[in-house]
Amino acid sequence: EFHKSKGQHILKNPLVVQSIVDKAGVKSTDVVLEIGPGTGNLTMKLLERAKKVIAVELDPRMVLELTRRVQGTPYQNQLQIIHMDVMKADLPYFDICVANIPYQISSPLTFKLLAHRPSFRAAVIMYQHEFAMRLVAKPGEGMYCRLAVNTQLLARVHHLLKVGKNNFRPPPKVDSSVVRIEPRNPPPPINFLEWDGLVRLCFGRKNKTLGAIFRQGNTLALLEQNYQMAAALHKAADGGQVDLVAAVNALAMADGKPDAAADDDGSGSDEEMGEEEEGGKGGGGGSARRRRGKASEGFKEQILEVLQRSGYIEKRAAKMSQDDFLALLAAFNAGGIHFT
Ligand code: SAM
Repeated sequence: EFHKSKGQHILKNPLVVQSIVDKAGVKSTDVVLEIGPGTGNLTMKLLERAKKVIAVELDPRMVLELTRRVQGTPYQNQLQIIHMDVMKADLPYFDICVANIPYQISSPLTFKLLAHRPSFRAAVIMYQHEFAMRLVAKPGEGMYCRLAVNTQLLARVHHLLKVGKNNFRPPPKVDSSVVRIEPRNPPPPINFLEWDGLVRLCFGRKNKTLGAIFRQGNTLALLEQNYQMAAALHKAADGGQVDLVAAVNALAMADGKPDAAADDDGSGSDEEMGEEEEGGKGGGGGSARRRRGKASEGFKEQILEVLQRSGYIEKRAAKMSQDDFLALLAAFNAGGIHFT
C-alpha cells in the first residue's frame, strides 16, 4: 500500500520517534515545520511539545489519514496540513523543522531550507546514512565533498543518531541518520554562486593539487572567458553580492535535477569523474562551459601566480577547510578572476 517512489518508509519504532523529538529540543512556543508526515507517528509527538505543527505532505491518502488521526483530539487546532509537493511550496514561517523526509529530495530540500527567510533555529532531519555522513564530513575525511563544503558554509551540522533500516515499514535498503542543521545567521557575505563555482572546480578532482587543476586547458579557457566578461561588464570592481537566497534557490532548482544543488560525485572518489575534462558535472560555470577556446599564456601565468602567492598551489580540495576556500576565493577575486 505504500509508494516506494514517494519514499514512503514509515518510522515504526516509537523509541526512535521519541528520541528524535527529544534531541530536536522543541519548545512549547515553537512553530514546527514537518515535511512528509506520512501517517503521523512523528507528527503526534511533535504536537505534544509544540505550539503548532505545519506538515507538508504530497500524498492525498496520507493527508486524509493524518487529518483523521487528529480529528476530535485536542491537537486538531494545532495542526495545519499543506497538501503539496514541498519543493513547490512557498514555505511559511517556522522556528524548527523536524522531518523524516523522502530521500530522493535530500539535497534540494536541504538547500531550500537553508535559503528560507526568515531563518530558523534548527532543522533536525532524517537522511540516508551515507548522505548524512557526507553532509557532516570534515576536511581530510573520506566523505568530505562539495555537499559538505556548501552545507557547512551556510550551517553548522552535527550527526545526532543512526537509525537502522529495521525501524521502518517497509524497511528501506539503506540505514538512516538524523542530522541537526543550524543555519549561520547571518550567512557569510559572499556570492554563493561564485563560491559554488570555485568549490565545484576544486572538487572535480578533490585529490589533485590546485596547481594541476588550474593548469588544465579547458579550466583556463573557461576562466579567461569569465575574466573577459567580468572586465567587459565592469563587474570586477563593484564586488556586487548576488542575493544569497536567489542564488541558493537557483542552484537547488537547476535543471530540476534533484542533486543539482550541491551534490558532487557521490562517493567523493576521483575515478568516477570524467577524464581530465570538466565533463557534465564539473567545471566552473554556467553557459560559458559550452564554449571552448584556448587560454592565453599570460592568463595562465596570472592564475598560477594567484595560487602561488596565496599559498594554495600544492593544496588539494580534500583537505581544504571553509576558511581555505574563502581565502582562495578572495585571492582570485582580488586578481579579477571570477567563477560565474
Ligand atoms: N514522516 C513519516 C514517518 O516518519 O513515518 C513518513 C516518512 S516517509 C520517509 C516520506 C513521506 O514524505 C511520505 O509520507 C511521502 O508521501 C511524503 N512525500 C514524498 N515526496 C514528497 C514531497 N515532494 N513533498 C511532500 N511530501 C512528500
